Amino acid sequence: MLGNEAIAAGLVENGCAMATSYPGTPASEILAGIARLKIDTGRPRHVQWAVNEKVAFEIAYAGCMSGLRTAVSMKQVGLNVASDPLMSAAYMGVRGGFVVISADDPGPHSSQTEQDSRLMAMLAKIPVLDPDSPAQARQMAKLAYEISEAYEIPVMLRPTTRVCHARQDLPPAGVPAEDAEVGFKKDPGRWAATPKFRLQLHRALEEKLDALSADPRTAPRQLNPDAAGLRAVVASGVAAAHGREIIQDLGLWGSLPFYQVLQPFPLHRSFIDEILGKYAEVLVIEETTGVIEMQIADRRRVRGKQDGRVPSVGELHPETVESVIRAFAGLPGQAAKMPTVPGRRPTLCAGCPHRASFYAVKKAAPRGIYTSDIGCYTLGLNLGAVDTVLCMGAAISQAAGFYQAHRHLTTRPDIVATIGDSTFFHAGVPALIDAVAQQVRFVLVILDNRTTAMTGNQPTPATGVGACDEPLSVVDIEGLVAGCGVKFCRTADPYELEPFIALLKEAVSFSREQGPAVVIARHPCLLDRRRGPSEREPVQVVVTDECDGCGYCLKHFECPALVQVKGEERVRIDPGICSGCGVCLSICRNHAIVAVDPGK
Ligand code: SF4
Ligand code: SF4
Repeated sequence: MLGNEAIAAGLVENGCAMATSYPGTPASEILAGIARLKIDTGRPRHVQWAVNEKVAFEIAYAGCMSGLRTAVSMKQVGLNVASDPLMSAAYMGVRGGFVVISADDPGPHSSQTEQDSRLMAMLAKIPVLDPDSPAQARQMAKLAYEISEAYEIPVMLRPTTRVCHARQDLPPAGVPAEDAEVGFKKDPGRWAATPKFRLQLHRALEEKLDALSADPRTAPRQLNPDAAGLRAVVASGVAAAHGREIIQDLGLWGSLPFYQVLQPFPLHRSFIDEILGKYAEVLVIEETTGVIEMQIADRRRVRGKQDGRVPSVGELHPETVESVIRAFAGLPGQAAKMPTVPGRRPTLCAGCPHRASFYAVKKAAPRGIYTSDIGCYTLGLNLGAVDTVLCMGAAISQAAGFYQAHRHLTTRPDIVATIGDSTFFHAGVPALIDAVAQQVRFVLVILDNRTTAMTGNQPTPATGVGACDEPLSVVDIEGLVAGCGVKFCRTADPYELEPFIALLKEAVSFSREQGPAVVIARHPCLLDRRRGPSEREPVQVVVTDECDGCGYCLKHFECPALVQVKGEERVRIDPGICSGCGVCLSICRNHAIVAVDPGK
């Protein structure tokens, strides 16, 4: 089982009745796993990809207010989006168990930040569980529901990429537990509390935390209880899995006490007293911030992030953990270096429609400012068509900011924002409403490939299907854009490159004089299994002797199927990856790329 599938199994077999999410690596397969279980077993009763993490959180939270066990999953930056309801939900508490899964990405492998969700749990004042493996993540789903219901509090489960994407032999999901009886019990003093009552709720929350920090079910445990000495190691999450193996391999299992923390916040008070009473030095190993370390709070005896013994940036790889433990235990020698393979530059797929859109953006606004967003299309960077990427939806608000900053210049730069369809639904719509109201002069290109491609082709509100492929209503992007008040809104296929460039030029002209212009660049993602057969016949392309090796196509179009073999001047087509989109026919200024009739 993939770690995320193990979490899905743990939730469903323990009675999760509603699960929601917005996709994001490394969390995406949690809801996908729950959806597969629903297809197989009919449970949970509701599984949903929501429009964003805040909406996902609020839907699942209302389910637990109705007495059901529910869960919401997201990646760590998604928790930023859901932080508003999270903070309030901690005060109001829960009725049915409520598990908030925030998957962290130390490294980071596919995120804007490597923030530590355990800090968000501290800020919200909710308990957080930190699994070291898929098996433990599955067990913790059960534990999370138990403590959530016992203390009437949301509980965070914080796996990291190495747990989410690890595989472990585990039994299939058990039979789903019976759902609790559903029924919302009105209690406005709690569920709609005014500020006066929030003070009482805050007091109650502090009391819950106090009790949680003494609950034996989540207490830290010494994994080698026979070991004794003046120094000890404390670890959580994946660092605990690495630490356990490394201490055994180094022959320190009998002499270096090793503790695993299951619940980094709130850290058990008796545990802090115990380790400070027993040991002269304590090494704390955790990803990514010193959450445990700051709660132990004795800088004279604690070694870790604050004194620089444990890196505060990046993943704690086994060799890093080994070096830290060797130094702490006074062992000579170095950890063996892991072999590495050369990296490959990430690029858009051969035939990706976004490539054509970016090429057109550069042609239509060659000296423009290009704001962009989160998705596969961030790789428009390689084509020089992406200048900024901040967070979900920021392409539009940053375009507005650049316009306001430059609007008094006599020659204003053209501004072109690019945003994916899923990201537009997620956080782009409020920014577009604001831009219309402020008459921001810019072009918005909605890269509409009919899916959330980067995270595994999850549906968007325009796809018309749900998490279990059930039919849903379709939200029309053109209607949405028009409803925001945009006067110029056209849709075109970027594969038709020349007319698409002409349309973008028209949009740029409109935006200079009149306000926001929107172009919807619609062509399905080539990897989306739902897209069905293409209406276009693939084009077989070859490069002729007219190619003089100028490299223009490689630099400005960068399709991975266009290759220049070392020692050869001429560019070639790699037929193994060419998708036959035919867009490159319009790129070569020497007309060296031509279509051939496969029958001849
Ligand atoms: S195919 Fe055309 S653009 Fe590409 S290297 Fe050859 S001549 Fe230059
Ligand atoms: S037809 Fe041209 S642009 Fe399309 S995938 Fe093949 S080489 Fe790339």
